[in-house]
Amino acid sequence: DPRVKRIASAIRVVPDFPKPGILFQDITTLLLDHKAFQDSIDIFVERFKDKNITVVAGIEARGFIFGPPIALAIGAKFVPMRKPRKLPGEVIFEEYVLEYGTDRIEMHVGAVEAGDRALVVDDLIATGGTLCAAIRLLERAGAAVIECACIIEIPELKGREKLGGKPLCIIVETE
Ligand code: 5GP
Repeated sequence: DPRVKRIASAIRVVPDFPKPGILFQDITTLLLDHKAFQDSIDIFVERFKDKNITVVAGIEARGFIFGPPIALAIGAKFVPMRKPRKLPGEVIFEEYVLEYGTDRIEMHVGAVEAGDRALVVDDLIATGGTLCAAIRLLERAGAAVIECACIIEIPELKGREKLGGKPLCIIVETE
């Protein structure tokens, strides 16, 4: 796909952020290139438009950037999966393990219903812990998780293996 090269070069790599030794993939520079941003949305829309997806679940924070335009283009509802204590209504949550300690993501009760067909969107998959928690949460709410979509995959971290066989669509792999 000739669009991938432009998308890849629009992502800025920031060494030692947020701490020493981490090579941070910064998608804010991709958003500055409207052609590359549009192409990245189009690639996902082409892939998901005929899969009867009824809900796009976006993971805070950068899944809130890429998820909604995909949801609008494929005619699905958008559901934010948020960090703890951000949502005002009743929530269900899933915990996941971080390098130090645990974190959780939350979703409003009733946002997703039994029979929904879900696509989970985030900017990047590293260890896969976040996406895995999102999948569990959606399945507990009765949805079928059809696929996951991220702009970037860090293949050496093998996050894909944590997804329990769910398909993962990515655009760029880090080296
Ligand atoms: P995982 O749970 O797969 O280890 O981490 C993925 C989560 O951490 C995603 O929500 C993603 O936004 C964030 N993340 C981890 N590393 C990076 C990075 O280098 N760049 C960006 N943009 N997000 C990252």
